[in-house]
Amino acid sequence: MTTTGKDTTVAIVGGGIAGLALGNFLLGKGIGCVVLEKHSREYVEQRQRAGALDAGGVRRLREWGLAEVVEGHSHGDSDAAMPLLIEGEKRQWRTGGDDDPDDVDGAYCPQQILVRNLIKVFLRDGGDLRFGAEDVSLHDLSTENPLVRYRDTAGSTKTVSCDFVAGSDGFHGVSRTAVPAGVLTSATHEFGYAWLTVMTDVPADPLAVLAVHSRGFAAQITRGPNASRLYLQCPLTDTVGQWPDDRVWSELEARFGSPVPQKGPITSKQVVPLRGVTFSPMSHGRLYLLGDAAHLISPVSAQGMSLALHDADVFARAVVHQISELDSSLLDSYSETCLDHTWQQQASAVWMTEAMHDAGDPSYEGEFRRQIARKNLETMLEPLPANRPSA
Ligand SMILES: Cc1cc2nc3c(=O)[nH]c(=O)nc-3n(C[C@H](O)[C@H](O)[C@H](O)COP(=O)(O)OP(=O)(O)OC[C@H]3O[C@@H](n4cnc5c(N)ncnc54)[C@H](O)[C@@H]3O)c2cc1C
Repeated sequence: MTTTGKDTTVAIVGGGIAGLALGNFLLGKGIGCVVLEKHSREYVEQRQRAGALDAGGVRRLREWGLAEVVEGHSHGDSDAAMPLLIEGEKRQWRTGGDDDPDDVDGAYCPQQILVRNLIKVFLRDGGDLRFGAEDVSLHDLSTENPLVRYRDTAGSTKTVSCDFVAGSDGFHGVSRTAVPAGVLTSATHEFGYAWLTVMTDVPADPLAVLAVHSRGFAAQITRGPNASRLYLQCPLTDTVGQWPDDRVWSELEARFGSPVPQKGPITSKQVVPLRGVTFSPMSHGRLYLLGDAAHLISPVSAQGMSLALHDADVFARAVVHQISELDSSLLDSYSETCLDHTWQQQASAVWMTEAMHDAGDPSYEGEFRRQIARKNLETMLEPLPANRPSA
């Protein structure tokens, strides 16, 4: 269903969550697309990142007929099994607050599993996915005939002519840089601290434990039956070298206020500054930016994958509308629609990040902010018995 003479309707740059979801959404509606992914299939299917998908993300996948890609990963109504520890004391999340209106559950689905499943379904259904696409460059975006050029695995230069380009190549991709200087603005918030994030071959039991402690925030979150990711708040200046394995485990135990049931091999460590970034507008000419190419959100909110799916959903609906109704109104409002949602999510991510971190170690934001954050945190928790003040 391409415009005459073009290779495809949508050239999708980047085969991550946003790009693969978009490819599947379009393919399901019979709309031509080509996904160009820089890395090999083996690489992207092993790349460990996020692990939690909220109910909105699961609902979007279901609506496009892709429930199978998160099958078996629903975390059900298990808030009780995801305790918050405040100075070592177990607290329960308040129930009934932000349940999905359609009663859809979120999922603990490691990102590489979701990527693997999206690739499998896309290829099974006849999708055109080209791995190892190097030196991707975008051209003629302000015309009706945009073009994407790349070098294939054999070293040959190829072009894909299309009606639209979806820039879904992540924060460090090339799509956003194809927009002429001065067109995009970026708004950034630095939280002033980092996370040491650690992958370990140890299951999380329960699936997610979060801890607010005067030594700093800590968490252990499942990444499948035999792995979990540990998080420790640390100063921005910390390096991985300052965190030998023994220190990671002992600090986790100190912040949890109890021994962790199982310790094991640590497979990777990284210090990640916590920040939020939004680029605006999210489109330029025939280029539409999706997911991390357009925004980064504090990982505390676990919204990175969900935002990517949101953008893919809005863009796919807009393309379908353009093709079936010959009406560009949804494409025209794509940026506005996605930015509205992005800022809504950024607002709750900032609120949540500050509540979880400022309530702990006062050396970052001071005692006043600590007390405010404790009160904010209490609004999300089941109250303590009447005669017990919060910690
Ligand atoms: C270490 C880490 C931990 C994270 N933890 C969490 C978490 O716990 N919860 C959460 O919700 N989010 C988390 N995130 C964020 C989440 O992973 C992202 O928000 C999500 O991956 C966004 O999806 P995306 O498709 O927009 O981008 P990506 O997943 O980054 O996909 C972009 C794709 O484009 C490809 N690409 C890049 N450049 C090019 C190019 N020039 N040409 C062609 N292809 C290209 C990349 O190889 C990649 O496959 C984490 C991120 C990182 C890095």
